[in-house]
Amino acid sequence: MTLPLETIIGLEVHAQMSTRTKMFCGCDNDAFGKAANTTICPICTGHPGTLPTPNEEAIRTAIRTSLALGCTIRKECHFDRKHYFYPDLPYGFQISQYDFPLAEHGELKFDIHNHSGNILHESTCRITRLHMENDAGKLTHRGSTTLCDYNRAGTPLMEIVTEPDLRSAQEAVAFAQELRRILIALDASQADMFKGMMRFDASISLRENGTEKLNPRSEIKNLNSFKSLEKALQYEEKRLVALWKECKGPLPHNITVGWLDDEEKTKILREKEEAQDYRYFPEPDIPPLYFSQKDIDEIKSRLPSLPRERQQQYISLGLNEKQAQQLIDQPKLCVMFDAVYKKTNDAKRAASLVLTQLLGFLNTQEKSVHDGPDATALLELIEQIDNGTISAHAGKEVLEAMTQTGKSASVLIEEKGLRQISDDRIIDDLVQKAIQENPKAVGAYKNGKKQALGAIVGWVMKKSKGQANPEKVNAILKKELQQ
Ligand code: ZN
Ligand code: MN
Repeated sequence: MTLPLETIIGLEVHAQMSTRTKMFCGCDNDAFGKAANTTICPICTGHPGTLPTPNEEAIRTAIRTSLALGCTIRKECHFDRKHYFYPDLPYGFQISQYDFPLAEHGELKFDIHNHSGNILHESTCRITRLHMENDAGKLTHRGSTTLCDYNRAGTPLMEIVTEPDLRSAQEAVAFAQELRRILIALDASQADMFKGMMRFDASISLRENGTEKLNPRSEIKNLNSFKSLEKALQYEEKRLVALWKECKGPLPHNITVGWLDDEEKTKILREKEEAQDYRYFPEPDIPPLYFSQKDIDEIKSRLPSLPRERQQQYISLGLNEKQAQQLIDQPKLCVMFDAVYKKTNDAKRAASLVLTQLLGFLNTQEKSVHDGPDATALLELIEQIDNGTISAHAGKEVLEAMTQTGKSASVLIEEKGLRQISDDRIIDDLVQKAIQENPKAVGAYKNGKKQALGAIVGWVMKKSKGQANPEKVNAILKKELQQ
């Protein structure tokens, strides 16, 4: 039996901004993998008497992201103190934004795909707000001991809050993936999930189809991957449906749950009626921020084209949806495709080189795009093919070796002796020999059997160990046989 229930989902996304320094001090923002407590200073560890200074690069990054999400930038915003106690929070409060956030009222359009990567339909989710805040440190629990690492404390975050517009786990994941693509395209965040640079809190509730009222929700905290976002929402949806049947209705009040990745289930963290009291009040050490329309317009005019727009551009060049998707999912592939297309003006060739050959070789070697050649190296290879130094066939072999060794195309061509024979005199000699050695094929060709030419060309290619330029062989052979 399916109840006539509708699933309502909203997300809160935290994304670490890819700035050089932290949100309110000059410490290195790239602390991942560094020794504990080495990228800290008295400001980001909340020593008394220090003053936070907002990072202009972070503010610009957050504005850029807000504009790309269609938000309105408030002319005035300010920071607030959000109080709570936890050992990873040295200040005893987080510097966040409460009632005057940086930006509001945006929306994000995204595509829902089927399993083969084709677009099924478009969906929209409204963005409630985007605000800036700093991150807390990191705790490591070892038995009865807990270690504090404050390297991450003070890292600049954007918190992006959506309206409850998402209707399934699948939709929530598609939204989150599109948001990630946008963050990467804007260079606003590396959004590396493995490094915790993008994290989700997901709220889910049920209501009877056709009703408008929002029922109390279950909020799932701190989901670190698309997989856990999807699984946690599916699990909680099932649980809420079962509860609805049992209790003939929705949850009596909001609850907060955590997702247990290993056990693949949620567990209740807090069950209470009222919101936590964070004692928000305006941060007295940082003056309000004011933005002029001119500032905002200037930032807006320099926004790059966004992933879905680029996808449409690639499709209009003749790529299929899946290929276009592959490109926008990996900005480095985009750069390479664009460079090859610019040089060759041939989208099919660029797609085959970048998506079929290059990606194929990297996948077989279980390497990432970042381990492979860059656009310049790829262009050098194309140059060698197009100027006749090597054949297109040898080009594949060279590309594979490039992915294996990291060497350049020209070095590999010499090492492997793949240089193509384009010297007319050498090819002329080979063609003369071919005519002598293949009287049958020559006779057939002269009697009008045009495909007999292939056998003679094949003989030349074999004799030259594949190194004769096939186009030249063809041309010279035809000329000889016409005489
Ligand atoms: Zn610092
Ligand atoms: Mn937050």
